[in-house]
Amino acid sequence: MSKLLAPAGNMEKLKVAVAYGADEVYLGLDRFSLRSYAGNFSMSEAAEAIQYLHIHNIPGYVALNIYPFEHEYADILATARQLEDMGADAVIVSDLGVIDLFRREHVNLPIHISTQANTLSPQTVMAYKALGAARVNLARELSFAQIQSLQRSVSGIETEVFVHGAVCFSYSGRCAISDYTTGRRANRGECTHPCRWQYTLIEKERPDQPFDAAEDERGLYLFNSKDLALYSYVSGLQQAGVTSFKIEGRMKSIHYLASVLSLYRKIIDGVEVLETEALSQLSRVMNRGYSTGFMKGNVTPDDYRFHDNETRGHSKFLGIVTWSDAAVCHMDVRNRVEAGAEVEILTPTGELISQTLPGPLLADTEGNVAPVLNHGKTMVLPFTLPEYTIVRKLD
Ligand code: SF4
Repeated sequence: MSKLLAPAGNMEKLKVAVAYGADEVYLGLDRFSLRSYAGNFSMSEAAEAIQYLHIHNIPGYVALNIYPFEHEYADILATARQLEDMGADAVIVSDLGVIDLFRREHVNLPIHISTQANTLSPQTVMAYKALGAARVNLARELSFAQIQSLQRSVSGIETEVFVHGAVCFSYSGRCAISDYTTGRRANRGECTHPCRWQYTLIEKERPDQPFDAAEDERGLYLFNSKDLALYSYVSGLQQAGVTSFKIEGRMKSIHYLASVLSLYRKIIDGVEVLETEALSQLSRVMNRGYSTGFMKGNVTPDDYRFHDNETRGHSKFLGIVTWSDAAVCHMDVRNRVEAGAEVEILTPTGELISQTLPGPLLADTEGNVAPVLNHGKTMVLPFTLPEYTIVRKLD
């Protein structure tokens, strides 16, 4: 039975992931995970998150996937002990020393091998199994044919594949551009994504006259990878025996999460989704263009976005439904909403509904109305929608 593995960067995102059909959720702590600056949980928040997931019968995995220095191992072990106590369902790790430490110290938590370990071969998967791992994330650099072959040679261990989200120009996270340009270390979760910036050439005598460094009119965004979107490979990967389909994006918005999860939920459940329909749904959220990465055998210039580093989405997220009864619902407004606007509604079951908003808008339950509502307000809709429904305006 294949699983949809969703990211969660905070409690709201976690609840959206659950509502939109995640089978499993992964999260990071404010220490020891490769997302240091945002999208992380404190220990008490993680405990709350795991508790919420368990109420919904969903396992929660916690990333401890940095490559630690010598002095950090004791602290990582203490953190793992706390995760054991709170009932986390697995830890995601990369480092051989951490795996060995957890085994020697009898940490009672299944181990999932992180994408940071860059696992490419069945030999390595089985070596991790021998070390006690329960699951291995297969490197993004594998092709579909290589994954099929790998799956035929492994047994008794689960595998997972990243099917959607941003990718590194380098082997996942094994890159020091950020360290050199900004002093923020990619392997400590601090990457500032300089691979996606535009670069210019400065001549020493004329520092105030930068030149666009470009081989042609496209400019220089040589390292700017498009986002990965492997919806068309999911069925083949399921047949090959991949256990879990992972979505990238602990730092992404709830709009991204709802949209991407609802699409992959359908695809994993075997619903036929046309290529045009899938792309159209994914185009509603911010993206840098989509690519199938290494899945087809190799990457080509078409897998990069050379001409700019803009992210675009063909819709504006207006708000999320936070409460409903049989007659009305409340929407938490996140962007300016205008009376009478034509909107698209995405429900947690993946239903898309076109709707015209009332004019004027209902600003509260007292009957007050307004022509426009801005971020932070609550809008009352005169019809019912499920909690966590997304409301957006298409371009
Ligand atoms: S700079 Fe780009 S390639 Fe390097 S670690 Fe960061 S995201 Fe990955």
